[in-house]
Amino acid sequence: PLRHDADRCIQGTNDDASISKMSCVSLGYFQDDFIHLFVRRRTRRPPMINRGYFARVQAIRQAVDNFLERTSRGGEGGGQIVSLGAGWDTNFFRLRSSSREPARYVEVDHREVTCSKARSMMKSPALRDLLADVGEDGAREEAVIDAGAGTVRGRGYYLAPADLRDPESVRKVLDASSVDYREPTLILLECVVAYLDGKATKDLLSMIAESFGDCCVLIYDMIGPDDPFGQQLIFNVESRGCPLPGIRSYPTKESHVKLLSDCGFARSGVHDMREVYEKHVVAEERKRTERIEFLDELEEWHLIMAHYCLSYGHNGVFEIGECPFEA
Ligand code: SAM
Repeated sequence: PLRHDADRCIQGTNDDASISKMSCVSLGYFQDDFIHLFVRRRTRRPPMINRGYFARVQAIRQAVDNFLERTSRGGEGGGQIVSLGAGWDTNFFRLRSSSREPARYVEVDHREVTCSKARSMMKSPALRDLLADVGEDGAREEAVIDAGAGTVRGRGYYLAPADLRDPESVRKVLDASSVDYREPTLILLECVVAYLDGKATKDLLSMIAESFGDCCVLIYDMIGPDDPFGQQLIFNVESRGCPLPGIRSYPTKESHVKLLSDCGFARSGVHDMREVYEKHVVAEERKRTERIEFLDELEEWHLIMAHYCLSYGHNGVFEIGECPFEA
């Protein structure tokens, strides 16, 4: 029961992330035409949280867009995207609605989360339209949505449950999704590994490195809480009743790089989110969003941003670029 409670709490972190992203969308930090179809509760977040989410969402979108640009063949997306612990992420719909999608898009999460995601898709004509395909005879082919099982199978899109602590169950979902392990693949772990212990993270990353010949894994994570700000950050997460795996020694930038190379990624790198925000996020977007809300606690902002990072590991002949989210 303890693990069950902790799992439920971890699934709740998805509500939190989605509500924060919705807060950004309402204020104009970034556009997301689909998130309101998943998120029911609206709350305005403080400026610092909004700006932090903007940095995270913008950097990951840049990585996704860069990847598609490099893998697209004659206008058709050649690569694949796999999002582990995807929550209610809407990148797939953003890409499909602008006809820039990859060959396959796979999303995995706990069953409770994939069930609620599938239910939202079932309820929304707009999402069902985007998921539908035009068959060879010109007739509309609906995606197969099973909200009870938490699965959706559509043209190029696959959603299914798995426990990321069990790499074999993840591998089974990938097999069933008909990803091509030889094709270039971008694997997203956005704010997910913080909820896995060290061994589970290692096993999962090793399985990915062994399975995909040509891939880039991109991880957004919390780092180094060895100062009062870091400890406050961890406290905030834990005080929501959501204990992070206690045995995990909190990672640093260096430990991310080591982890990725230990797991079999040939090249790896890491930037903390302050660096990402100041050096990698498209400057015009940064300037535009800085006018939305005023931040007077710059010192605190810098400290908090130094406690999150984006790390990445590459394997294979395909090169997404030195840094996947380079503007
Ligand atoms: N990636 C999404 C985003 O950034 O908006 C959601 C992030 S949310 C903070 C963490 C997600 O990881 C939740 O949806 C949670 O259910 C999922 N997750 C955590 N541990 C998991 C596990 N062992 N198996 C499957 N999903 C897991």
